[in-house]
Amino acid sequence: MDSDTQLLLKLHQLDEEISRLEKFKEKIPEEIHILKKEEENLIHRFEKVQTELNRLESLKREKELDIQTFEDRILKIQDALDKVRTNEEYKALLREKAQAEESIMEIEDEILTIMEEIESLEREKEKLNQIIEKEKQTIQDKIRKKEEELENISQQLEKLKKEREKLKERMKQPFISKYEMIKKKRGTAVAIIDSDTCTGCFLIIPPKVYSELVKGEKLLTCPHCGRFLIYQPK
Ligand SMILES: [Zn+2]
Repeated sequence: MDSDTQLLLKLHQLDEEISRLEKFKEKIPEEIHILKKEEENLIHRFEKVQTELNRLESLKREKELDIQTFEDRILKIQDALDKVRTNEEYKALLREKAQAEESIMEIEDEILTIMEEIESLEREKEKLNQIIEKEKQTIQDKIRKKEEELENISQQLEKLKKEREKLKERMKQPFISKYEMIKKKRGTAVAIIDSDTCTGCFLIIPPKVYSELVKGEKLLTCPHCGRFLIYQPK
């Protein structure tokens, strides 16, 4: 293998590594985004319980005010009972008082049910709080790891790109131009082969080109796709 081929192969390997790392790097922001969404969902779950708790608390306060209203009503009825003149009026007031007392009992039952719901939600909130704290920690650890990974890959890429520049200085300009042109057009500029099939375009390399290639004297390109051919028998 002559030096041009070796340098070309090295450039190709560097570019493969760069492209692998870049693909990896591209995915990380989206992965971080998904993790942050997960964290938001956890907070949202907690907030939903809290909202329901607030609703129940205010419902309970409303019911307590209703009781107050009925109790005021009963006091007024008591006053009225003292001043009543007819038997009918008296009976009517007593009925109204009994109804108010019954309403109070009903509302007290409702308040009890609400309090039970509040208690059970408080327990759920406490449990959720513990789970969320733990999960949030896990998610934040994962995010930190991803950010470190991103930083790491960026550094690696920077190093590889510097290496690539240095390598290019050692190569002949026409090779580089051709290499860059094919790479831009095809994604890869080198096909490493061990038979007469181009691994870039999967077409058969003409026998004459192939036999020259096997001799390894010249740097040749695939007549179909233009990629540099490097023969590496298994
Ligand atoms: Zn080809």
